[in-house]
Amino acid sequence: MSWKKSIGQKQQIHVLQNALSTGRLAHAYLFTGPDGSGKESVAFELASLLNCQNATDGSEEGACGVCPDCLMIKEFMHPNVEYIFPVESALLDPGDSAKKENKKFTEAKERYDALLEKKKQNPYLSPAMERSMGILTEQIVALQHKALFMPNEGSKKIFIISQAERLHPSAANKLLKLLEEPPAHVLFILVSSRPDALLPTIRSRCQALRFSRVTQQELRLWLQQNRPEIQEPNLSFIVSFSRGNLRLAWEFINNRDSDTAETATIVLRNEALEYLRKVLTPSRFHEAITSCEQNAKNLSRGDLVLFLAALLLFFQDANHRRINADFQELNNPDISDAINRFAKNFPNPDFFQISTLTEEAIRAIERNASPLLVMASFTAEIKGLLLRKA
Ligand SMILES: [Zn+2]
Repeated sequence: MSWKKSIGQKQQIHVLQNALSTGRLAHAYLFTGPDGSGKESVAFELASLLNCQNATDGSEEGACGVCPDCLMIKEFMHPNVEYIFPVESALLDPGDSAKKENKKFTEAKERYDALLEKKKQNPYLSPAMERSMGILTEQIVALQHKALFMPNEGSKKIFIISQAERLHPSAANKLLKLLEEPPAHVLFILVSSRPDALLPTIRSRCQALRFSRVTQQELRLWLQQNRPEIQEPNLSFIVSFSRGNLRLAWEFINNRDSDTAETATIVLRNEALEYLRKVLTPSRFHEAITSCEQNAKNLSRGDLVLFLAALLLFFQDANHRRINADFQELNNPDISDAINRFAKNFPNPDFFQISTLTEEAIRAIERNASPLLVMASFTAEIKGLLLRKA
C-alpha cells in the first residue's frame, strides 16, 4: 500500500507527512484509537517510507511498496524494523542451541510464525499469542540491544510496539529508560487501543496521534476506487458488516471467492441464519446445540466473529422493519422478505438486550475466551430473549 491507498486516516497521515517534510519527526509516537482503525498499518507505512528506495521523506505518495526494502518490511524481515507484540515466554529462551531443540520452544515458534503469517494476510490484525502474559521484559532487553546498532545510512531503526498497554510492568520501566534518552537514530511507535492503561510517564514521552474509526463512507469510497470488482449487494454488505473495523473489512474483502458473486461472508451469514431458525424451532433446538458445538470447533475465531456479527446485523434489520415496515437502508437488502417475516413472527424481543448479548459474545471470542463456552451460553440466552412473551 501507500499513503494514497490507505483507508481513511487522511488527517493522521497528513500530520506525519508534515513532520517528515519539515524534519520534525518525533523520536516516539503513541498511536491510539479503536481496534481496527488502521493504527498499525499507518505505523508500517511510515516505517516503509523511511526505508523505501524510491521515495523521499516528504513524499505525498508514500512508500513504493515494491522495492527490496518495502518487500522486506512486508515480510517482517527488514533489519531496520522491529515488530514487538505479546508473545509466550517459551519463545524467549536465549540463543542456547540446546534450547533450540527444545520442544516447547519449537512449538511456540510455530505458533509465532503462524501469527505473523496471519498478520501478513491482514495488516489490520493486532497479533498476540494466546498464552502470552503480555510484552515481556526479555523482549524489551532485546530491543535495548538492537537500539544500539546503527541502521543503514539515511534511515532509522524503527520499533513498532503493538498493544503497548500489555507491556509487563518491568518491561515498561525498561522501555521508559530508552524513551527518556532516545538514541538519535531510533524511532519508537507505540500502538494502543487502551492508552489509559499505559504508564503516564511513558505516555508523556510520546507524541500522541489519535486515530478514529474509519467511516462507512470512507470504506465505501475506498472499495469503489480500489476494488471495483466488488459490486452490490456485497459492497454494502462489507461496509455495514465491518462497522468501521478495518480488520473485519479486510477479512471480508479477502475471503471473497472471486469466481462467484457470493462472498464467503454471505455463506457464513446464511449459516448463521439457519442456526437461528434451529434455535427458534422448539423441535430443532437439539440441532441448534449440535451446530453451535460444530461451529465452536471448526470455525476460526475470525469466522466465529463474522458469524455473530451476521446475526447482529440481521437483528438490527429486523428491529428497523419492526418499527418501520418501509425502512430501506437494510444491512442485508438481499433478504428483505426474510427480515419482514422475522419482524412479524417475533414482535416482542428486547432488541437492545439481544444486541448487547451478541456484542458481548463477539468481544469474548475476540478476547480468546473458549469458543464452546461462549457459543453454548449465547445459544441458551438468545433463545430466551427471542422467544420472550410480551
Ligand atoms: Zn519502496
